[in-house]
Amino acid sequence: MRRQREKELKAMKGILNRAIELGAVGAKFVEPQNVITATWVRLKCQYGCGGYGKRLTCPPYSPSPDVTRKMIDEYRHILLIHCKAWTDVRKLVAELEQEAFYAGFYKAFGMGAGPCYLCDECALEKGCRYPDIARPSMEACGIDVYATARLAGFPIEVVPPEGGDENYYGLLLID
Ligand code: SF4
Repeated sequence: MRRQREKELKAMKGILNRAIELGAVGAKFVEPQNVITATWVRLKCQYGCGGYGKRLTCPPYSPSPDVTRKMIDEYRHILLIHCKAWTDVRKLVAELEQEAFYAGFYKAFGMGAGPCYLCDECALEKGCRYPDIARPSMEACGIDVYATARLAGFPIEVVPPEGGDENYYGLLLID
C-alpha cells in the first residue's frame, strides 16, 4: 500500500513537471472541493459570449455545472495549470491527459481555456472531428475560474478592453 502511494506521488510529480515542460508557467494540485462550480457561469456563456452554441466544446453541448461538480468529486487529484497567452492550454491539457492515461491514471480528463478552434467550422451536426484532442474549457463546464485560481493562490483579474495581465488556466483530473 505504501509502495503504491509512493509510486503514485512520483507519477503525479512527473505530470506536474511535464505541464511546465509543455508551456505552463505554474501548476499545483488542488483539492476537489477547491474547484468552484456555479450556475451563473453557464448564464455568462449564454448571455455574454458570442461563441455560445457554436462549438461542441461550449455550452449548451458541454457538461452543465451540476454534472461537472459530480464529476470533479469523483477524482482524488486535480492539477490546476497556469498559462500565459503564448501557450495553447487546450493542446497542453490534451497532451498531458494522454500521458497521464498511459502512466496508469485511467480516468484522466483535461479541461482547457476558451473555445475550440481546431476546425474553421465546428461539426455541430455530425459530431466532433477530433474527439481525442478537443477539450472543453473550464468555464464551458461551469467552473468559476476566477474563484478557483485565487483560492489556489494564482493571479487572475478581469482584463479591461485596453489590455492587461492575461492569465489562462486548465485542469487535469486524474485518478
Ligand atoms: S475539434 Fe472541430 S468539431 Fe470538434 S469541437 Fe473542435 S471545432 Fe468542433
